[in-house]
Amino acid sequence: MKDPFGRNINYLRISVTDLCNLRCKYCMPEEGIPKVPHQDVLSIEEIEKIAKVFVNLGVNKIRLTGGEPLLRNGILDIVERIGKLKGLRDFAITTNGVLLKRYAKELKLRGLKRVNISLDTLDKKKYKYITRVGKLEDVIEGIEVAKQVGLTPVKINTVLIGGFNDNEIEDIIRLTQKEEIDVRFIELMPIGEGVKYEPEYFISNQIVLEKNPKLIEVERKDLSSPAVYYKLPNAKGRIGLINPISCKFCKYCNRVRLTAQGKLKLCLHSNNEIDLKEALRSGQDIEKIIIDAVGQKPESHHLENGQYVSKKMYQIGG
Ligand code: SAM
Ligand code: SF4
Repeated sequence: MKDPFGRNINYLRISVTDLCNLRCKYCMPEEGIPKVPHQDVLSIEEIEKIAKVFVNLGVNKIRLTGGEPLLRNGILDIVERIGKLKGLRDFAITTNGVLLKRYAKELKLRGLKRVNISLDTLDKKKYKYITRVGKLEDVIEGIEVAKQVGLTPVKINTVLIGGFNDNEIEDIIRLTQKEEIDVRFIELMPIGEGVKYEPEYFISNQIVLEKNPKLIEVERKDLSSPAVYYKLPNAKGRIGLINPISCKFCKYCNRVRLTAQGKLKLCLHSNNEIDLKEALRSGQDIEKIIIDAVGQKPESHHLENGQYVSKKMYQIGG
């Protein structure tokens, strides 16, 4: 599917739940969030139906996210159904990794190809502090099991938070030295709880390059990836910088997003949504609705002008 700006839309991100087992300070309020009534959440069958229409329209990459996707009832069933869709080239999950040890093997068996794991610090106490409830050991064990079962290449997503993890950049980067792990640093965004944190704790990803002058830029093969990649000399893995604030990557955007409640979002930072759940339940032609929606995809976001999305990150899935 082409959008009005000639971009090929071939990537769908599906949030399967708003709920989470962590409370990252820049994402979720400490008390958690109200549970959405069951009937307002896309069922497993509806997720499968919508994914199928997208794949028929040319989407060849799907990522499951959340909230925490591994918390969703029936997550293995969802993975199995999507994993069977003909035409899918890439199928991944973004997870906090806490439940990965338990699920990695089954996820792989049911067709998942790889995982992105969110990890902002390598220090136990700091992990507990930033997630409010998490145990670092769970994530480290999850990463190991993901590697063992072949959910690879493993990518680690680290949100850079000034005064919190900028003194760990070198340690985190070193994870790429001996193994084919990609580490991607993401700039803190003014979304959800991040609206409170971003003005005080935002630091530009440029700091990663400043602290590591040995990093070598790697040729960009996939222009639609929001990350610009670098490598340490002789390292096996790569270091990606995702700079939504200091450097826009909208020009190559290839993705759309589906929320757990069935709303199609054409841009992470736009409030415009199309209700696919309602369309499905009232028997409308969702293929036509999706094609028309992609025809309305905005050219770029305007975070730099303070135009922030009102939905939270755990509702959109990142
Ligand atoms: N729970 C899963 C996880 O943490 O990987 C998936 C959903 S989470 C919303 C997806 C990603 O969004 C995570 O890597 C998280 O760090 C990131 N994120 C959440 N709030 C953010 C913010 N305000 N700015 C930048 N990234 C944020
Ligand atoms: Fe949960 Fe992911 Fe948000 Fe952390 S970033 S609170 S793990 S949804």
